[in-house]
Amino acid sequence: MNGITNNNDLKSITSFFEKQEISLIAPTTEELSRQLAEWNNTKYDYPAHTALHKLISGRAVECPDKTAITFGEQKITYKILNEQVNQLAAILIKNEVKKGDRVGLALDRSAEMVIALLAIMKTGAVYIPLDPQFPLNRINYMLEDSQAVILLTSIKYKNHFQSPAKELLIEELWETLDNYPATDPEVEVNGNDLVYILYTSGSTGLPKGAQITHQNLVNFLISMQRAPGLTATDKLLAVTTISFDIAGLELYLPLLAGAEIVIADTKATKDGWALLDIIKKEKVSVLQATPYTWRLLLEAGWDASTPLKVICGGEALPLELSQKILERASSLWNVYGPTETTIWSTVKQLTSADEVISIGRPINNTAIYIVDKYLNPLAPGIPGEIYIGGDGVAMGYLNRPELTAEKFVEDPFSKQAGNKMYRTGDLGKFMPNGEIECLGRIDAQVKIRGYRIETGVLEYQLAKENDIKQAVVIARPDKFGVDKLLAFIITKNTDEALNTTARIHNWKAVLKNSLPDYMVPDNFIIVPAMPLTPNGKIDKKALPDPEISDTVKLHTGPRNETEAVLTGIWQELLGLQQVGIYDNFFDLGGHSLLALRVIANVEKVTSKQFPVNVLFEYQTIEKFAEFLEEDGKKSKLQSLVPIKAAGNNKPLYVVSGINGTAFAFVRFANMLDAEQPVYLLQEPQEIGEMEEFPATVEGIAATYIDQILKQNPDGPFAIAGHCFGGIIAFEMAKQMEKMGKEVKLLALMDIDISDFETLQPGMKKNLYFIKHKIQNELHKIYKNTYLFVAHRQLFFKYRNEYHRRLLNKYKKIAKPNYNIEEYNFSQKVTQLYEKAKKNYQFTPYNIDVIIFRAKIASYHRDDKKFSGWKPFVNSIEVRDVEGDHLTMLESNDLPTILQQDLNRYLK
Ligand code: AMP
Repeated sequence: MNGITNNNDLKSITSFFEKQEISLIAPTTEELSRQLAEWNNTKYDYPAHTALHKLISGRAVECPDKTAITFGEQKITYKILNEQVNQLAAILIKNEVKKGDRVGLALDRSAEMVIALLAIMKTGAVYIPLDPQFPLNRINYMLEDSQAVILLTSIKYKNHFQSPAKELLIEELWETLDNYPATDPEVEVNGNDLVYILYTSGSTGLPKGAQITHQNLVNFLISMQRAPGLTATDKLLAVTTISFDIAGLELYLPLLAGAEIVIADTKATKDGWALLDIIKKEKVSVLQATPYTWRLLLEAGWDASTPLKVICGGEALPLELSQKILERASSLWNVYGPTETTIWSTVKQLTSADEVISIGRPINNTAIYIVDKYLNPLAPGIPGEIYIGGDGVAMGYLNRPELTAEKFVEDPFSKQAGNKMYRTGDLGKFMPNGEIECLGRIDAQVKIRGYRIETGVLEYQLAKENDIKQAVVIARPDKFGVDKLLAFIITKNTDEALNTTARIHNWKAVLKNSLPDYMVPDNFIIVPAMPLTPNGKIDKKALPDPEISDTVKLHTGPRNETEAVLTGIWQELLGLQQVGIYDNFFDLGGHSLLALRVIANVEKVTSKQFPVNVLFEYQTIEKFAEFLEEDGKKSKLQSLVPIKAAGNNKPLYVVSGINGTAFAFVRFANMLDAEQPVYLLQEPQEIGEMEEFPATVEGIAATYIDQILKQNPDGPFAIAGHCFGGIIAFEMAKQMEKMGKEVKLLALMDIDISDFETLQPGMKKNLYFIKHKIQNELHKIYKNTYLFVAHRQLFFKYRNEYHRRLLNKYKKIAKPNYNIEEYNFSQKVTQLYEKAKKNYQFTPYNIDVIIFRAKIASYHRDDKKFSGWKPFVNSIEVRDVEGDHLTMLESNDLPTILQQDLNRYLK
């Protein structure tokens, strides 16, 4: 909802609109007609008959050596881009892609993704953008509905999708690229030909494909080049999934303007810190994003030292957010429009003087009409439905003639017969100066993180559940102003007090199977009945807030002081008035940022320090309070920590190294696929645990295996170990094999055991030992200085607990007043591990391992090639990854490569 419009305003506007009668509306005066025509006079010449790729190819001639695309370290010039696009187009044509054919594209974000999009255009085919992260069912449906003849994807997704389309793998095509001509293919494509079909939310549960022509897209891009404006000196950071039409601006506008696209990879697009990093490193000047992503950037510490041209759209921009952006941005542009009229249809530059967030005026060759239900134009100030006409209007929906007829209607205001206008379903009104204010939706469509969601889809899916009688889903802002999806449920079984948490968990899991994550409601509220309007419709506005809902009846309040303190903290941070002691933190909408805040608050109250993983371990107030109360007497912390328990893949078990805690692995785990669960096996976290902890590698391995098998008795297993954890992982694999358990993947992360060879019989022990000792001491001096600087930088970048601890650890060299208790404890653990390591006898074992080696050595390596593992394993594959011994866990490299191995070995 817009910042200026509260729920009551909307209620009155909506009911006004519902009751509107023709007689109540002043007749359209000549003056009004003249004024509306003037506001809609947006005529601007552009190459309406030219295909987009032709205009982009023109840049390769004008500025061949300029960088067109940057992706990580990869840079591609306009000349190379054009040549590779042509070569790939030739390969597609060889594979019988013809003009008008539909080609599905499912590639991870990369430079090749852009090349492939342009190549499909050059064949005259129509692309269907498919984000591989989207649920399989949804992608399969789009491939089938569009009757795609080809699916262009990558080895990672080989045979992953099911459709009649012939699968082509980009890596295989790339190998043959040089066998094909770098000149333009001879295919005539013009403005009326389709360029893409974009599937967008549908009210029946199935998405529908809006068909966009080259002319639609070229008109839009030329208009955007004027305002907000983009020049050849700009660098635009592309962050949006190709499944969202607004990605079209990010990928094509820079190429049309001779500017540079910097592509953020999928992981970075969800990580404010990573985005800020790229913005600074690449000196990005323009960024388009939804309000949600702008909030992410603000959270990550974006400030005025990094001014950006900000393009914000996809959902209502609240006034408060626009003010925060304006304090930092070089300019701020609010853009509005549905997929069906090609990305954006209006634009407005906002300034700090604006008191109302307007969506501005129509873009080039576009008309906006605000009308009543009889299509009478309404005077400024009177709210009505927004219709959009002009050159952005799509060619309707694929295979949906009825829906097309309903939404794309004759444009009675156009001078040219046959022109259509699109019915947006948005409420709006003209302001006296001709700008438009968007007042929200008329129907049940909502926006979450910029994604368009028909809540009917969720209601339909939920109602299919056995234990659900009725479901109503709405979006409502939380206390930070961010819209959240709330599902109100009437259950079939009135005995719901039994197991609400488990039920909610099931419902979430069912939705996750068929819908993207952003469509899964944050909160489920069980209600006895839905509130109704006088005419018997569900009164969505009268649905209770979560805190005063019927779940409150099931709510059990705090029973002691500790529970009361925790309840206060949770309520405050989750923005809820009541939280029961059995409620699950993550089911209540808790996420990792909030978890950090909870821990920080608990630390303040108790004056003790806790790793954030205690919240993963103890997810309810009851459990957390128990943990706090027993703290000091006997630790309840187990070694097995679910860093990321959700996901349908087989889990990965990671063994941490000395002084490694769950903190170090949270980001790593989040960078793996959404479906990839990760469990950490970690060293004792406090003195109570130390007493029970075994003192040998064999013993530690056995303890860890015991915990894994309790949770996952059958396997198969994937085990990784970082640092000393690698040795434990190796021993675990051995013991598991003896138990008849299958270890399909053993990954050793930066663990060098070359010095262990000194312990093997037959070596010149003393000489070797002394040499090694000297080398190591020298390396230590280098390492300590290096790591101090590195962690200082990382702390200021991420400001997280993990780096603070490490920074302190290295600081202690200079500052003896470092938290001595913590230091003593970590020294104790180190001593225990050092001893276990010394006493461990390596014996060969017939297993294939993958070594992940940090590109920057943090310690001296005797065996630079195999880190000393060669004599003890069957085969070794070595993967060099970005970072040093510790920062490798923060890099994108390690999780990306490891995920590929997991997919290969575990599927
Ligand atoms: P989509 O087709 O996913 O781009 O969604 C289009 C819908 O998003 C519009 O019909 C509006 O309801 C909403 N929308 C897009 N941009 C804005 C904006 N700047 N302000 C308010 N609502 C917006």
